[in-house]
Amino acid sequence: PFDVLIVGGGPAGAAAAIYAARKGIRTGVLADRFGGQVLDTLAIENFVSMKETDGPRFAIALEEHVKHYEVEIMNTQRASKLVPGKMIEVQTESGAVLSAKSVILATGARWREINVPGEKEYRNHGVAYCPHCDGPLFKGKRVAVIGGGNSGVEAAIDLAGIVAHVTLVEFGGELRADAVLQKKLRSLQNVDIITSGQTTEIHGDGKKVNALTYTDRSTGQSHKLELEGVFVQIGLVPNTEWLKGTLDLSRHGEIEVNARGETSVPGVFAAGDVTTVPFKQIVIAVGEGAKAALSAFDYLVRSSVD
Ligand code: FAD
Repeated sequence: PFDVLIVGGGPAGAAAAIYAARKGIRTGVLADRFGGQVLDTLAIENFVSMKETDGPRFAIALEEHVKHYEVEIMNTQRASKLVPGKMIEVQTESGAVLSAKSVILATGARWREINVPGEKEYRNHGVAYCPHCDGPLFKGKRVAVIGGGNSGVEAAIDLAGIVAHVTLVEFGGELRADAVLQKKLRSLQNVDIITSGQTTEIHGDGKKVNALTYTDRSTGQSHKLELEGVFVQIGLVPNTEWLKGTLDLSRHGEIEVNARGETSVPGVFAAGDVTTVPFKQIVIAVGEGAKAALSAFDYLVRSSVD
């Protein structure tokens, strides 16, 4: 059995593995795709201490750093069930059963996609999901934000300070963001708001995005916006489907954690985008992963006394 079994091999899981292994305890990482969301990222310019890198390079660096220690990596394996107990069990889709004294959940999240033509083709070539990450790439350009909830409106406000012009496109008849955010948004000169707008296609020149079409759902008319970027902000979905009913999740499906990364199940910790910790960023996931590993180590020390 493992002393610490980490589920997830993104930045949070990798950091947890390094911190656990450095305590000299038996550490395993079970990951569907080692590297996580970073593998889908092009430029990374906000990982403190690195002016610039790219996702695939960052993912390789994560893996090399983890492999520098004695960590058992089980890649391309999906966890399907967590069974709490004195020894905690993690079952995989392939039928394996792993047991551990403590578990760190770091299964991350995925951006909800709009599923229109052009979205996949131009991902990272004008189609973006993270304004904190990619906003500065559109300095002085025209962008659309799809989604009028809190994240969409926050993104539009944030981007309006960087880009030339923002068009916010909301599917419903009105914005769903908090009133204070809507008020701020409406006060900005370089923002247009479209409600009842169904995005139907993202266009490009074969290399990068140059327009978006949407249908005005109240008139049925189609409109084309010329622009250079589209930020899809219709939700971040935590990868917790397999944990429902086992531990406490927020109403958005995120794992509830306290300041020490503890979940509602003793011996089970969580870190990164899969948790309720605000702001989904690499540098934050890394810090949370380290914290969860130190908490797990502390738990092991205390529970081995009796
Ligand atoms: P993830 O990176 O999501 O990793 C989750 C891990 O868990 C993966 O290994 C996955 O395969 C695994 N997993 C999931 N479910 C299971 C399961 N059931 N069983 C086993 N394994 C499982 N952040 C920045 O700070 N700067 C940026 O420039 C930046 N750009 C981004 C660009 C894009 C396109 C995207 C999508 C995200 C970007 N982010 C950026 C956000 C950043 O990638 C995330 O905040 C970070 O990766 C979260 O790390 P994590 O370890 O919590 O989760």
